[in-house]
Amino acid sequence: MLCFSVLIRMHSVYAHRLRRFSLKIATMTVLLFCGLGSGLALAELAPESRDRAMRLSTLPESERRLFAAIYTSYRTEIDSVRFRNDDALFYVNHDSLYFAGGRMLSANQMRCFLDFAPLVYPYQRGKMLTLPGQGDLTKRSSWFFNLLYGRSEKAVRSHCREVQFLGRFVFLNKRCIPALRQVERQLLSLAKHSKEVRAYIESIEVAYSFKRKTVVGASHASLHSFGLALDLVPRDYNGKHVYWKWSRVFHEVDWQEIPLRHRWHPPQAVIDIFEENGFIWGGKWSHFDTIHFEYRPEILAVAGGGG
Ligand SMILES: [Zn+2]
Repeated sequence: MLCFSVLIRMHSVYAHRLRRFSLKIATMTVLLFCGLGSGLALAELAPESRDRAMRLSTLPESERRLFAAIYTSYRTEIDSVRFRNDDALFYVNHDSLYFAGGRMLSANQMRCFLDFAPLVYPYQRGKMLTLPGQGDLTKRSSWFFNLLYGRSEKAVRSHCREVQFLGRFVFLNKRCIPALRQVERQLLSLAKHSKEVRAYIESIEVAYSFKRKTVVGASHASLHSFGLALDLVPRDYNGKHVYWKWSRVFHEVDWQEIPLRHRWHPPQAVIDIFEENGFIWGGKWSHFDTIHFEYRPEILAVAGGGG
């Protein structure tokens, strides 16, 4: 009788291990299929592995890529992800938000979710060969960044610190400082051989960083509000166009058609180094802002171009 009970117990232990192993394999398969990569810490996701695996596989391909880009870029800051009402619910800092096709919305914003565009949008690495697409400014939710870094200025400030970048003091989110340090190292190294890069670095007169503001012409917060954006202002723009709102004063109707050769831009090697380290360049936006860089690894994770 004792032997039989030991046998049952052993069977139950091995069956349990086997079941856990099968679930893990199933989840890994689906996440790899989603492009999340082998380094993903599966335990950080919700416990309902079988359910999650099934739900992820039902997301359209485009949404799976956005999900992977957001999750892998913020995996250390996301507490967990669960599925509810045919959507993924992200838990961040004791609050939650809906994936909503990459829109990352609060429960309140879900009432009019089609008004919002996804947080991750198309971006091309490398040299711009054509004008950016034309159009109106798109409404995007800041809720994800609100949950990550706080809704008040005081809360966001607690995530930031003052650092030097190319000899100027900037106040930036700690999250992007290691990447910015790497940008600085690469720029200074390149400046030893490139006259153009050296001249650019020497031309930077002011560096703007943390500032509470909304995107001009839109209603959502600029990434400057979270200490994740940097404006590097040179001594002069050689009479070229820099910022869409200033250009619109003189080109009221056709400012989006201003040729690239008439727009000021940093040396291409500088833009490439920022992009390599997770920063996108505002010169590639339809509403161009050519002195602006912001830390958006989730956008670069699915960006095209760059060979
Ligand atoms: Zn800016």
